[in-house]
Amino acid sequence: SEQGIYYALDLGGTNFRVLRVQLGGQRSILEPDVERQPIPQHLMTSTSEDLFDFIASSLKEFVEKEGDGSDTSLMRRRELGFTFSFPVKQTSVSTGILIKWTKGFGIEDTVGREVSECLEQAMARKGLNMRVAALVNDTVGTLALGHYHDPDTIAAVIIGTGTNACYLERTDAIIKCQGLLTTSGGMVVNMEWGNFWSSHLPRTSYDIELDADSPNPNDQGFEKMISGMTPLMAEMHEDDSPELTEVARILKDTLEIPDVPLKVRKLVVKVCDVVTRRAARLAAAGIVGILKKIGRDGSGGITGGRRSDIKMKRAVVAIEGGLYTSYTMFREYLHEAMIEILGEEAAEHVILM
Ligand code: ADP
Ligand code: MG
Repeated sequence: SEQGIYYALDLGGTNFRVLRVQLGGQRSILEPDVERQPIPQHLMTSTSEDLFDFIASSLKEFVEKEGDGSDTSLMRRRELGFTFSFPVKQTSVSTGILIKWTKGFGIEDTVGREVSECLEQAMARKGLNMRVAALVNDTVGTLALGHYHDPDTIAAVIIGTGTNACYLERTDAIIKCQGLLTTSGGMVVNMEWGNFWSSHLPRTSYDIELDADSPNPNDQGFEKMISGMTPLMAEMHEDDSPELTEVARILKDTLEIPDVPLKVRKLVVKVCDVVTRRAARLAAAGIVGILKKIGRDGSGGITGGRRSDIKMKRAVVAIEGGLYTSYTMFREYLHEAMIEILGEEAAEHVILM
């Protein structure tokens, strides 16, 4: 039932976005104004002040272009939702402490600091009167939006520059929350699944090399096997020209390998296919893992008591991120794997949205 104009900032990957959203009440969201820009590479490893000053400046510019003309004064205090998609120890609805950077970011002086405060201080330096009203992970934002449209939404997954998921858990099943009550009896768990690790997760020598070459070795193993920090791979994979000219161009311009014969270019596409298919299947396995944990995979194994004559409840999983929304082959492989793991009948009750 919320109404009014709210601002939002999405920081956590390749691009950051500023948004102006009008909520119309009764689950209606009017078309938001969105501006998207890439985060300059040097700011990803610079200082906390440099990064947040850059973001605050962009946000200020955006606010100054406010459309309705009714109140263009920067004096009015505006409310900001801050989507900050890195591992955070959440201390309240609007505050949290950065545990570590991921996805190529590495600014040491932000680690251990309260991130909303970093942003609010930068906004104050730029003369922007705005308050962080809510701090959320992108998975949690996606779950909230999914739930806004469909109350059967039980989990959210991001597959973009990085990968992560969150889901709705019963509070009494969360060990570290013992004694803490919520009015709903439920709580959203941000899994940070990008850092999932198990000796059962088969890693190839290529995974090991990639990890060693990354800015965060021994960290985010699942993420490195799934997510799309290298969009060029998708471009090569999706090259449907008979001569594979796009593959040739990327190999030459980016990898500095000229004159690759067609036969080898075909092999490169095959490698992209194998990597993408594995990534999609691992993501599907993760989603089924969530469904199993909360007894919604149709097996009845965990919560027990499901008899075959009781209809399986619909479970909606909200998915965001460029790999799922824009990479057709990735999405198809993921759907295929969901059906393969759950079985056709159970898979019909699991809706990826
Ligand atoms: P972010 O993670 O910064 O929020 P996105 O969700 O848009 O951003 O994810 C970016 C990633 O999604 C890119 O690194 C790329 O691998 C992938 N991606 C984006 N668009 C496409 C596309 N059209 N085809 C294939 N992959 C894409
Ligand atoms: Mg994103």
